[in-house]
Amino acid sequence: MLHRRKFIRAGALSSLASLLPVASFAIKEKAASSALPIVLSTWDIGVAANKAAWEVLQSGGKALDAVEKGVMVSEAEISCCVGLGGNPDREGIVTLDACIMDDAFNCGGVAALEQIKHPISVARKVMEKTPHVLLVGTGAQQFALSEGFTLEPQKLSDDAQKAYEKWLKKSQYQPKINIENKGNEFDHDTIGMIAMDKHGNLSGSCTTSGLGFKMRGRVGDSPIIGAGLYVDNEVGACTATGQGEDVIRVAGSSAVVEAMRNGLSPEAACKKMIERIVSIKKDKAKSIQVAFIAISKDGQYGAYAIQPGFSFAVTTPQTNLLIKAKSYYP
Ligand code: ASP
Repeated sequence: MLHRRKFIRAGALSSLASLLPVASFAIKEKAASSALPIVLSTWDIGVAANKAAWEVLQSGGKALDAVEKGVMVSEAEISCCVGLGGNPDREGIVTLDACIMDDAFNCGGVAALEQIKHPISVARKVMEKTPHVLLVGTGAQQFALSEGFTLEPQKLSDDAQKAYEKWLKKSQYQPKINIENKGNEFDHDTIGMIAMDKHGNLSGSCTTSGLGFKMRGRVGDSPIIGAGLYVDNEVGACTATGQGEDVIRVAGSSAVVEAMRNGLSPEAACKKMIERIVSIKKDKAKSIQVAFIAISKDGQYGAYAIQPGFSFAVTTPQTNLLIKAKSYYP
């Protein structure tokens, strides 16, 4: 996945953010009056995704529509590891995970979904049209087809094919730090997006091809409500990226929202959960990346990561920034 970040650097930053080095921003926390509406999303790919979400929010649309439209941009980008352009599992097959949650605890997700371009939209259909929260594998695909989604060819992108061939030589999986920003083939590629609309309602989405060269059948945190994403419209919203297993074991996004409920700011809540993961992982924390981003009901936002190098995109009426998050390790 050598090229997927370059298109962002080249063209997507149309505002102030394009003029400023990513590394120079400190996390800002804004008052509600000046921050509504607001959208946050993970990694550099969030810049282009926020742009699409912002069009919905700016025109008075719902946060739910914004977070779906926003991450669809990344899912459709073949040079991006979110969606069908992503790295495959060990068998050479791309499997996708996604979930979505609205302002009334409605939620839906899909896991291990193959050959469907927009898993986030299937997740939304699961939320709206079934009595369930999560559909997986062939059942998820069958449901997608019944809803009018079409099967895409089972073919790796050129970048993914090259990365897979390289991986096959050793066939080992070793998570690496900050790979997203280094173009390494061992990817943690997820876009998580959380937004508040003009009515003050929150929603979130999360979509990924998951860890590159994962075991067949492996599902990460991204499609799991409470782990990769959580929204409580009275409190706030949070989404996660990074080593999914370590997000699941602490019910990460839900725990961040609970910390905000108990009075912590978004950044402090994200930091608290990162510290918990580090204390659980002990020395092993040095070799993993996890990051959370969060918005509170009063319009503040923040983020925190284990390792430096995690960036997130923020768009408000006043700002359009790619911000480098603070991290546990310097
Ligand atoms: N959290 C995702 C997973 O574990 C990976 C990522 O964030 O890139 O599947």
